Amino acid sequence: MLSFPPTWRPHSAECTDHYDNCPVNEAEENQPHFQGVTGLRNLGNTCYMNAILQCLSSISPLVEYFLSGKYITALQKECSEVATAFAYVMTDMWLGDSECVSPEIFRSALGNLYPAFMKKTQQDAQEFLIYVLNELHEALKKYHRRRSYEKGSIPRCCRKVIANESSIITQLFEGQLNYSFMCLKCESCTYKNEVFTVLSLPIPSEYECSLQDCLQSFFQQDTLAWNNQIHCSFCETKQETAVRASISKAPKIIIFHLKRYGFWHFVRFFF
Ligand SMILES: [Zn+2]
Repeated sequence: MLSFPPTWRPHSAECTDHYDNCPVNEAEENQPHFQGVTGLRNLGNTCYMNAILQCLSSISPLVEYFLSGKYITALQKECSEVATAFAYVMTDMWLGDSECVSPEIFRSALGNLYPAFMKKTQQDAQEFLIYVLNELHEALKKYHRRRSYEKGSIPRCCRKVIANESSIITQLFEGQLNYSFMCLKCESCTYKNEVFTVLSLPIPSEYECSLQDCLQSFFQQDTLAWNNQIHCSFCETKQETAVRASISKAPKIIIFHLKRYGFWHFVRFFF
């Protein structure tokens, strides 16, 4: 998982958020209600939360997991408030009769663990998403003892047994990045894998660009120079290094986070 917390907060002047307690007007009442097309009441600057819940509620395998009750058998603790409250919200959104439901119970469950989300202030949507996914994973994870096989024929006693955690969250959203590092002096290469759940992409233009542009920017080769040079074990000194990322294991469903303000994502390897 990408470990950097997001660094931006929307400026209050840009926010058109408000506490939504207006009664549903007659024209809206007469609209047909489509299953799953359900609004979320704004609890006071909770647009960040509603946006994430709407995104999650449109992911069919995730919704099916909660609506079918499969999550109950996977619950780690007898009472995981976040997972249970998430199931309630998804059920209300998909199986309820209302055009708009309140996510109050879900906010309270998460707010008990992270009080910042109880404040009526803007929060970062991607940060909120990470907390939600982490809490759902912790509540629903199972341990698997997985055998890994080395190359070639090895005796049974030498097989490694690795404890592995998996949940509906890792099954749907977890992927793996592979970073290759090439010393620009001796051209020797080293590789590093990193698991991710959310892929944070830079926005390469101040004006207009496509998701494809963001992806190209993320996966293009970068050069670590000056203070960011890294140690080459062959040259035995710090050298300029070319770095390139690729996806070595694609998740079933990939979550992109577009970074409004960029930072150098490779920095986390070296400090
Ligand atoms: Zn080298």
